[in-house]
Formats: sequence, structure tokens, C-alpha cells
Amino acid sequence: VVELGTPRRSVETTCAYCGVGCSFRAELSGDQVVRMVPSKAGGANEGHSCVKGRFAWGYATHRDRVLTPRIRERHTDPWREVGWDEAIAYVATRMKDIQARHGAHAVGAITSSRCTNEEVWAVQKMVRAAFGNNNVDTCARVCHSPTGYGLKSTFGTSAGTQDFKSVEAADVIMVIGANPTDAHPVFASRMKRRLRAGARLIVVDPRRIDLVRTPHVAADHHLQLLPGTNVAILNAMAHTILTEGLADRAFVAERCEPEAFAAWERFILQPDNSPEALEGVTGVPAAEVRAAARLYAAGPNSAIYYGLGVTEHSQGSTAVMGMANLAMLTGNIGREGVGVNPLRGQNNVQGSCDMGSFPHELSGYRHVSDAAVREQFTLDWGHPVEDRPGLRIPNMFDAAVEGSFKGLFVQGEDVAQSDPNTHHVVAALTSLELLVVQDLFENETAKLAHVLLPGTSFLEKDGTFINAERRINRVRPVMPARTGKQEWEVVCEIATAMGYEMSYGSAAEIMDEIARLTPTFAGVSFAMLDEVGSVQWPCNDNAPMGTPVMHVGRFVRGLGRFVETPFVPTEERSSRRYPLLLTTGRILTQYNVGAQTRRTDNVVWHHEDVLDIHPHDAEDRGITDGDLVYLASRVGRTTLRARISERMPQGVVYTTFHHPVSGTNVVTTENSDWATNCPEYKVTAVQVQLVPPP
Ligand code: SF4
Repeated sequence: VVELGTPRRSVETTCAYCGVGCSFRAELSGDQVVRMVPSKAGGANEGHSCVKGRFAWGYATHRDRVLTPRIRERHTDPWREVGWDEAIAYVATRMKDIQARHGAHAVGAITSSRCTNEEVWAVQKMVRAAFGNNNVDTCARVCHSPTGYGLKSTFGTSAGTQDFKSVEAADVIMVIGANPTDAHPVFASRMKRRLRAGARLIVVDPRRIDLVRTPHVAADHHLQLLPGTNVAILNAMAHTILTEGLADRAFVAERCEPEAFAAWERFILQPDNSPEALEGVTGVPAAEVRAAARLYAAGPNSAIYYGLGVTEHSQGSTAVMGMANLAMLTGNIGREGVGVNPLRGQNNVQGSCDMGSFPHELSGYRHVSDAAVREQFTLDWGHPVEDRPGLRIPNMFDAAVEGSFKGLFVQGEDVAQSDPNTHHVVAALTSLELLVVQDLFENETAKLAHVLLPGTSFLEKDGTFINAERRINRVRPVMPARTGKQEWEVVCEIATAMGYEMSYGSAAEIMDEIARLTPTFAGVSFAMLDEVGSVQWPCNDNAPMGTPVMHVGRFVRGLGRFVETPFVPTEERSSRRYPLLLTTGRILTQYNVGAQTRRTDNVVWHHEDVLDIHPHDAEDRGITDGDLVYLASRVGRTTLRARISERMPQGVVYTTFHHPVSGTNVVTTENSDWATNCPEYKVTAVQVQLVPPP
């Protein structure tokens, strides 16, 4: 940290990295941020922070920031810097021209979970009211869309059930497909405090993550399953709980749909779902699965925490429903210390989903086919909302390659690096007549764009983020927008230039509109948040100050619904040519595609993606620690440095995706979740070979 002087003033705001949503005091000397100090009053962090929130904010003033709009006819042409008026007029004219020639549905937008709710709201409104279609999707498509589908199908709402504090009342904690130490560090510390105080721990993960054994914490059970077999493990646990008489039948009888439970019970009791039958599929000894199931059922308070290792699979939605089934079966829902809790990746994944930036849902997860809801929006916006769902992100890419989708607005996301099967994504983006990117930097996607609109960093934004526990946190401007405009203002001006008058006096006015049109946000306003600090939605007449724990006494959908979860193996199989399975994840000091963290001092701790490989797999291939290796799948190939790691089981390799040089997603496939199209990042059959010395 460079000490720039004595702080003269400070601004309370929210970290823009992960879904923990830590509150910070940005201290300034003049107009320079001197340091970020975690806030004791922060509802999510209570004075704690991690290395990213504390130190990785320098990207806001990095020399790579794009501060002036740029346009060009072809993506291979040099950029031309222009003023805001020319850029906005150019986007509006070209979007309208595409629609005139190819129809209203030939254009769409992708919203960003890095941006504020108010910015996301503006983009989805521009699509619905100015573009006149529902072709809007959120980057949550590629991370937690199965959470939305799975929790809504079973409990009735697309959100985690508990506040973070709830973990302090848990007796048994099951962590599945998540590595909180690296990805959600401040919450991980809270969880570890509870574990050190005596809570028991089940870890379900192919890797021996830090939580399995860390100072004063040791998992009671580590179910080291093969990638792609979460559903089989969850079914085997449910089978054990039923057959061993461990279910909470009083809870099920009182709180759940009887017909759905009876059908699910018949399904789960099939011998195919026993731990013994599934041992060969999961690679986990049946006795271990049975012991873990007994521990989870015994509780008395058992809580599930999960991450992208659950959702980013071809059966991501099925696995989410499998966890919800387990919680209902054992009565572990609707009070402190229990529940099913997604650890959201990005700072505002929850919010970007809540804001109605899915192609089939308006804000608050209400389907576009609901005439009464559409009527509400039509009256407020003075423009009708289409009743048919629009395109999801992968459908947009497919349609672009096929030639029916021609114009795309990308808000703060680097799809060319982050989305799977990079070759297909690039083919789609280069097929577009108009690609507009709104971002801080000229990222991999912007390199293919026709228009680059400068975005604002979190230090310049005014708005709100919503963290993994549904907490609506204020984001306050620490410095003026270096670009001269807030992102939502730019979006409003494009919509207006296209013929739909859209304007707000402030971000606060956008939140007022969100609250007016979204029942779960009733009464939320900047003034209210400034007064009380933060609230957890749903906020309504019954709970004006929010709801830390959901489904108390009654599920949002009324009765909880058990859903059958047959295990269907992924189509991605290892073979003689691709004998290893690759899974991917994050490390503590970097963040996602690294657009921000690579432009801060954090880069000194981690400057390249490496491939973790089991010692025997390495030895078989003549690989030693630090060697360069080829990593190849059926769709692509890249080069990485190998790291021999006992954390890996034999047959499985692991890497991160923080650096464009390695471009990890060159090798990931287009397989996706059956319900939501969330990509299957977590299972790719690969071969690893030593790069011959020059
Ligand atoms: Fe930011 Fe997440 Fe770290 Fe908190 S835990 S400081 S929200 S990156």
C-alpha cells in the first residue's frame, strides 16, 4: 500500500469483489484514496476483510482505464476516440438499423453481476422498452442460474435461505462444491470460528481443499467424489436417511407437499440410489457416504453451504434440488443454523438476478408470461413488455453464428475470456454487426467490439449491491465518475436516442422504481439504507426491516416441494486420448478473469494460472514441479505450468482462469445444465503432456 497522505475524509461503501459483500470505509486525502478500512458496522463482515477488499482497489486509477468512448466500423479497424454524444448516437442508430433489417429480436444485452442493481435495472429496461424484446440475460447464467432454478422449484424463491450469522448456530456444516477459504474468505473465517468451537464438518469436493484440514479444523468426512457426481452423492445420502429411519417425518408432513414427497420417496428408495450401488460412480466408499448422511441427519442444526462446484455441471439444477430435498427431509430449514446457502461468486450476482435481467423473468423472479405483472410494468414504463421469453446467453451466441442475431450490448463482462469454449464465443462475437462493450478496460471481448463505452469503477458508482445473504448494501461514490457519466446515464441516453424516453435524476430514483415494481423490495430506498445500514430482502409490510432467515413456518411457495433427482452422468467422459478430468476454480488473491486484480498489487502474489496435478499422474507423464505442460481437450488446447499437488486425487487436474495468456476456457466444453444452460466448467476430459524443452 502506498501511503499517499493523511486521510481527510472517508466514505462508507461496499467491496466490489465477492458475494460476501464486506463494508469498507474508503479514506481519502484530497481526491486520492489512501486506504480501505473494513467497517465494524458492516452487516456481512463486522470489521473483517480479505486481501482483495483491503488492497486490490488500485485498478480504479490504473493507466489501462478507458476514459473516452471509442468506435470503429470493423473490429479489425483502429479505434477512433469520440465524444459521448457521437458514441451514443452511433449505438442507437446502428441498433435501430439492425432491427429495421433483421427484426426486433436481432439485438439484445448481457448484464453484469459486477455492476450495481441500478445499472443492471437500466440495461434490462432498455432491452424491454427500447429494444422491445426480452433478449436480456445476466452473467449469472454461467455461475448460479441453477441456484435460481433449483431453489425456486423446491422452496419458492431463488435465493439463499440464511444470513451469514446463522452459521454460528450450526452443529453440522456441509460444504459442497465450494472453497470458501479462497473464494469467500471473510465468511470462511466465520465458519472456521464455528468449527473450532465444535461444529462438525462434511466436505464434498474432488480436491482436498483447505477446510479438509487446516489449523484446529478437520473435516469429519471428506467425500472426495469424482467430478460430475454430486447428484449421485446427494441421492445416496437421502437413501441412507430414509432407509435408516433418520428422516424428520413430522416436518415433512407439516411443511411439504404430500404427493410430491411420496413420489420422491419411491424414487429415492430404488436400490440404484443406495450408497453401495453408487460407489462405483462416485468413487466414494459407501460407508463414508452413510456416515456423512447420519451426521447430517443427526444435526440437530445442519447447514449446507455450496458454490460453483455444484452449479456448473450438466446436472447443476438437479444438484441444487437434491440439497433442498435433503434439508426438507431432515427438517433443516426455517430457523437459524440450518438451510441451503449458495456462496455467490460475484459481488452482485444475487442483485443482477433479482433485477429481472433473465430473459424469462421480470424483477422478483416473476415470469414474463404473467399478464398481471406485465400490466404493472406497462403502466409504469408506458411501454408493453413482451410475453415470450428472450434468448439466453448461449442462445445469443448460437444465433449470432447462425446469422439471426446481429447486435449485442455487453455490460461489464468479458465473455470472450470467461465463457466456455472460447472459439465458439469468438466466432459468435465476430459474426455480429454491432458489438457494444461497456467496461473499465479494453478486455478480450472489447478487442472484438465496434463500440467501447467507458465504465465506472465501484469507487465512482452510486447504488446498491446485494450479497449472498440477500443483504442490500449501499455503494457510495468515493470520487466523481472519471468518464464524466454514470453507466446508467449512458444506458438511458441510448434508450432515449432509440425512441424510448428514459431518464432519472439520480440512482436513488432508480431504486425507487425497483421498489415500486418489485414486491420483495417494498419500502427499500437509499434514504432507508443510509439510515439503517443495510437490509436483507424480502422487505414488505410484514418485515419492513428485512428477513435474515427465510421459510420460517412456511415456505415462500406455501408447502415445500420434493423434486425427483435422477443421476444422469455428464456426456463429458474421459477416454484413452483424454484420460484426466479437469476442474477449475479461483484463488484468494485473484478474481475471476483478473481484469481488476491483475491491475493491482495483488498480481505480485499470483501472476499466472498453474495446473495442479497428482504426483502419480505427473510421474506417469515425466512431469516435474514447474514444468510447462500442454493441456488439451476435445475443443482446444493451452499451455500452463504444472504444480505437483497432493490436494488432487489421481485422475483429476485443476487450474484457475484468471489470466488471458493461459485462457483456460479454451479447453472447457459447451456442455451445460439441462435446465438453465449454465456451462459445465467443472468437468472437462483432458490430456496433459510435457512441453518438450526448446
Ligand atoms: Fe471483498 Fe469478498 Fe474479501 Fe469481503 S471477502 S473483502 S467482499 S473479496
